Amino acid sequence: MAFKEEIQRRRTFGIVSHPDAGKTTLTEKFLLFGGAIHVAGAVKSNKIKKTATSDFMEIEKQRGISVATSVMGFEYKGYKVNILDTPGHQDFAEDTYRTLTAVDSVIIVIDAAKGVEAQTRKLMEVCRMRNTPVIVFVNKMDRPSRDPYEILDEIEEELKIEVRPLSWPIGNGPDFKGVYNLFEQSLYLFTPNKQTLEEGISLDVNDGKLADEIGKSSAEELREELELVNGVYPEFDKSPYLEGKVAPVFFGSALNNFGVRELLHCFLEIAPSPRPSVTEEREVQPSEEKFSGFVFKIHANMDPNHRNRLAFVKICSGHFQRNTNYKHVRLGKQMKFSSPTAFMAEKKSIVDEAFPGDIIGIPDSGNFKIGDSLSENEPLHFKGLPSFSPELFRYIENADPMKSKQLAKGIDQLMDEGVAQLFVSQFNGRKVIGTVGALQFEVIQYRLLHEYGASCRYEPINLYKACWLESDDETELQDFKKRKNQYMAKDKFGRDVFLADSSYMLDMARENFKNIKFHFSTEF
Ligand code: GDP
Repeated sequence: MAFKEEIQRRRTFGIVSHPDAGKTTLTEKFLLFGGAIHVAGAVKSNKIKKTATSDFMEIEKQRGISVATSVMGFEYKGYKVNILDTPGHQDFAEDTYRTLTAVDSVIIVIDAAKGVEAQTRKLMEVCRMRNTPVIVFVNKMDRPSRDPYEILDEIEEELKIEVRPLSWPIGNGPDFKGVYNLFEQSLYLFTPNKQTLEEGISLDVNDGKLADEIGKSSAEELREELELVNGVYPEFDKSPYLEGKVAPVFFGSALNNFGVRELLHCFLEIAPSPRPSVTEEREVQPSEEKFSGFVFKIHANMDPNHRNRLAFVKICSGHFQRNTNYKHVRLGKQMKFSSPTAFMAEKKSIVDEAFPGDIIGIPDSGNFKIGDSLSENEPLHFKGLPSFSPELFRYIENADPMKSKQLAKGIDQLMDEGVAQLFVSQFNGRKVIGTVGALQFEVIQYRLLHEYGASCRYEPINLYKACWLESDDETELQDFKKRKNQYMAKDKFGRDVFLADSSYMLDMARENFKNIKFHFSTEF
């Protein structure tokens, strides 16, 4: 197949949701359609249960499952589909944000009874930062649900994106009759627990046969509703969707395999093939002949006997080949990879080649950090792997004076993997670890001990947010840093960070230093 076609036929995307909305169920149904798996239940949820906090090995077991399913590729109708899974547990949100930098589009799953939830909002913010095209799937229509208009309004308001329903539900809960698909102009009737693929009935809404299918009053109601829908929402147009301005919305029930196929078909038709990537130097087109890619995730094996890591590389341009020399830009070193792996559903296998949009796993013994680039000699630095202000902070201290070197090395490597963020106080040199969730502190402590033989202990520090500073006024910036000396730290890239201990303190800083911008993420 020609190189251009290989790119055109690729769809690399992420399915995201607030925990329990149905991400795992939907992913599994997609894989069933793709023939990548054959029985339901084959995809393990990578959810880490709250109770697991006290049982570290349980977390590890679950993490093991999550790496197996972290990229799922399959062939369907001539398309090469790559689904990137994201951890549902909010303590690993940072991992999810980084994964979103490697996708070309996103499907957001929303629970029809609960509507937009906290995690959905945060994930959408990340999508908005890079104008990622988004399709929304309103799930669990087989359960008593909220009014579709209400859900759509909430999506627009809370996710700050315009919507365009492409299917419309007929009833909900016990009265759920099906959906009318506006994209295909066809009617899909709901049968609970259906394991086979449903076929739509091509039917114009004004066709008299509609009443035979769903009853006279439902048919009338549907006509009225669709008239309203088509009046309120502008006709669907692919370009605003591709620009991330309008989200097409589908309704269905993943568990019942209902509405899933139309979603997939529409997705394949409208979702973007690999998009250009932004680097500090220039924009990289997928169709460029020369290979380039970046590391967006590192998965460490925590078994001390197999201390290898797997670096996940998103291919941005060119044709990647096994055993070929590529440049590791940060190290300025040529490297070749003898066993890159591709991910096809549950299996990992060594591949000889890969194309833009694909994700490969490279076994690594410590050469890679998150954000590293690979290229054919050009020194490219991919942008868009932001750090976000952590939510929780603790001082990390050495608990075993004989092992301070091991501790330093361990902390360094864990930070390279993106497990948490490290800030070094400019005032007293103490190290502060920042995480998104409490679970990570435990992960760090455990891994330092088991992988590096180092012991650490934590001490409380009262912090509200880490802020990265931006200002055109160098004098004011210097003045600020001097006055807030006690609260200034460096992140691991040596950038200045202001560690505010309360929102009040931050408000005061904003008030008194009008020429300084305080950012909660490194992407501004
Ligand atoms: P995730 O946390 O977003 O991955 O959610 P899961 O896919 O694990 O689903 C959470 C729960 O909702 C599970 O018990 C599913 O069986 C259930 N579920 C998923 N989709 C549907 C649906 O369409 N209808 C109903 N009634 N339950 C669903």
